[in-house]
Amino acid sequence: MDCLFCKIIAGEVPSSKVYEDDMVYAFRDIAPTAPEHVVIVPKTHIASANEITADNVKYVTAIWKAIPGIAKILGVSENGYRVVNNCGADGGQTVNHLHFHLMGGREFGWPAG
Ligand code: AMP
Ligand code: ZN
Repeated sequence: MDCLFCKIIAGEVPSSKVYEDDMVYAFRDIAPTAPEHVVIVPKTHIASANEITADNVKYVTAIWKAIPGIAKILGVSENGYRVVNNCGADGGQTVNHLHFHLMGGREFGWPAG
């Protein structure tokens, strides 16, 4: 399958790994929009949030279970951070493998633009 994030998980495309467990892989975003910006992906191909099912939601649970530890690694736990999922064209999704952006190291506005 021609999926960039599957290739990153497989080690076929290089990445700057921040965290890994049996279900989750997290790496630094190549075009960061914050001082700390990590992309967190399930180690199975789920195309987008639209494809989350009762069978694969355990990967989403594993991602959220990992998030506090990843925030600690990045040093943003205390000041806080933002987690974002972009889904589909209107959501701004550019890579069709489910992923969550964890961003910190600066303040973010709300509502998001
Ligand atoms: P999204 O727009 O939500 O689909 O996010 C995709 C993210 O992947 C963007 O923030 C990109 O900068 C990032 N990205 C694309 N290619 C790579 C890569 N090879 N390594 C790390 N991050 C990447
Ligand atoms: Zn994939």
